[in-house]
Order: sequence, then structure tokens, then C-alpha cells
Amino acid sequence: MSIPKTQKAVFFEENGDLDVIKYDDIPVPEIGEGDVLIKNKYAGLNYIETYFRTGLYPSEKPHILGREATGEIVKVGSKVNNLKVGDKVGYLSTATFAQYTRYPATGHILRLPSDASDENLKLVAGALLQGLTALTFIYEAYNVQKDDYILVTAAAGGVGLLLCQLLSKLKKAHVIAYASTDEKLKLAQKAGAEFLVNSSTTSYEEQVKKILDITGGKGVAASFDSVGRDTADLSLAVIGRKGTFISFGNASGPVPPLQLGRLSAKNLKVVRPVLYGYITEPEEFEKYTNQLFHLIDSGELKIYISRIYPLEKYIEAAREFEGRKTTGKIVFEIPQ
Ligand code: NDP
Repeated sequence: MSIPKTQKAVFFEENGDLDVIKYDDIPVPEIGEGDVLIKNKYAGLNYIETYFRTGLYPSEKPHILGREATGEIVKVGSKVNNLKVGDKVGYLSTATFAQYTRYPATGHILRLPSDASDENLKLVAGALLQGLTALTFIYEAYNVQKDDYILVTAAAGGVGLLLCQLLSKLKKAHVIAYASTDEKLKLAQKAGAEFLVNSSTTSYEEQVKKILDITGGKGVAASFDSVGRDTADLSLAVIGRKGTFISFGNASGPVPPLQLGRLSAKNLKVVRPVLYGYITEPEEFEKYTNQLFHLIDSGELKIYISRIYPLEKYIEAAREFEGRKTTGKIVFEIPQ
């Protein structure tokens, strides 16, 4: 396969609103002796792209967006012996909103069957990052127990719908879904949520009362809170004695500094996890990817891919996503 010198990619050179995003030609990366070059086919959209673009998370510029993809290996470095040209792969990496990505062969990379269809590649691109996030967090951030009451914010989002399913089916917990529209709550219910809280039509006080009432006044065992600034107080108010606050995202902005003294009244624990901290070791990555794809293949876990956009429509997709108009997962098709 001949590899071109330039490729299309989605990137930014300065932080800002969506108008800093470019979809343009950049060089195809050179690979080192331990790297592979992957020709991407599908790539999943994740909220972290927004944090990099706005500057909430620092990054080198130009910054090519994208954190996961599927595709085919088109070149291998001289010291690579675990992957070969023609292998189909799914992987977690930066710079995947591009036609080609350079990646170390020892990285978070998953070899797919040689007969994997386009549908398989789409599914893996839609499942990998958010699936591993939801799966690792329910064991490692807080090991959820049967019959626990658990609050899930942004419950109809990409991670949210996976949490609803895994918590209800795998962990047999009672899920309280929190989302901004009734349509979103219905989706969360379909994914296994037992109780629904509409964040737009109820006041903060009503939300606290409703969640405490659902739990018989005891409060939830944990809150999986990806919304951040707007929901941190709610989470802390409704988590019960000895409960865990898992603050894992900033969709509404970062959580303001937390006075440790606030934890004392209920002996609370706070965790601020990132996925990579739970899959650092190759055996951790293997264990959780095996479990994730077993759950998907057996039909226990559904990946709700709500829309596929061509990569050139990145800005349109991101506008919908950041405007809270999307549910489930958005996947990009990369031009071949
Ligand atoms: P989602 O599909 O969940 O989209 C974000 C959702 O957040 C929106 O749909 C919206 O749901 C809710 N939201 C609440 N307030 C706002 C706001 N002011 N602006 C925008 N959205 C808001 O995204 P993802 O599934 O990709 O990610 C979910 C969260 O998980 C993100 O915060 C992300 O950073 C985090 N994450 C963290 C990881 C980690 O390793 N720590 C890994 C993966 C994801 P609603 O309208 O219902 O409120």
C-alpha cells in the first residue's frame, strides 16, 4: 500500500471556541523502530477533546484531536514483532482524528480478527474508551456492590449509558439517572436506570429530596459524576455515610476546590480517576478489554452509537455534543 506524504486531520493551533478548529492537510508522521503506522477507519468522539481545545487541559500545539480509533496497520518499525502490516486494530492514542496515526506497538492496542467487518470497526471505535472507563470505574474507583444505590449524572451520554447498563446488569445496583431532558432519561431507563431525575425541570432542593427519598433517607453509596462544577454540591449532598464521590469529568466546568472538612460529616471518600490510571499495565488493559468485548459480544452491553459523521464535519458534531444535544456515542468515519 502506498502511503501519501500528507493527510487530512482535525487540529487546532491555539485554544479557543470551535472556530479555532481546522480540517486541513498535515504531514503523515514518520515512524520510529518501535512504532506502527495505522490507517484509521473510524474514531470515537470524547468530551476530553473539548477540554484540550478550550485549554482546560494543557497540550502542545498544533494539537491533533482524537483519543481512540480503529483501522489497519500499514507500516511497522524494524523492532516491532507483535504486529504486522494488514492487521486490523482498535487502540487508544492521541491524534486519531487523522487519516494516519503513529503509535508505539507496545501501546494500548488491540488486535482485531482479520475478517473484522466495517461494522465491527465502527463498534470497537465507539466502545473502547468509554467502555473501558465505565468498566474500570465501577470496579476500581468504587467497587459497586449488589443493591447499592448509585447516582449517575449525564446518564444518557456516552459514558452514562454504559454506566447505567453495567451498574444495573453486571453489578445489580439501583441506578438513579440524572439528565437534562425526559427523552434522555427515557434512554437511561432503557439502559437500566430505575429512578429518573430531570435536572432542568426540578430545583436543587427537589433533586436532593427526591434522591434521599429514593434511598430511604440513607443517601447513595456513590455518585459517578462527570458533570463537575454544576453537580458536585448535589453529589456531596446525596451521598450517604461512608459513600464515595467519583468526580471524573468537567462537562460543566471543573469542580471548585473542595474543603476536606466537608467530607467529615459522613466519612466520605473522594476519587478523581482517569481511565489510564487503571489500564497502565498491559495485563490490566488486556483484562478489561477482554471483559468489555465479552460483554458486548454476549449482548449484555449495548453500544449506543447515535450518529456517524464524516471527519470533515467535526465542528458540526462537536457543536451538537457540547450543546448537550447528543446521546450515546458519536463516531467519525475517516476518509480513505
Ligand atoms: P457525554 O456524552 O456524557 O456528554 C456530556 C454530557 O454532559 C451532556 O450530554 C450533558 O448531559 C452533560 N452536561 C451537563 N452540563 C453540561 C454543560 N454545561 N455543557 C455540556 N454538557 C453538559 O460525554 P462523554 O460520554 O464523552 O463524557 C462524559 C464525561 O465523562 C465527560 O465529563 C468526560 O470528560 C468524562 N470522562 C472522563 C474520563 C476519565 O478518564 N476521567 C474518561 C471518559 C470520559 P445532560 O444534558 O443530560 O446534563
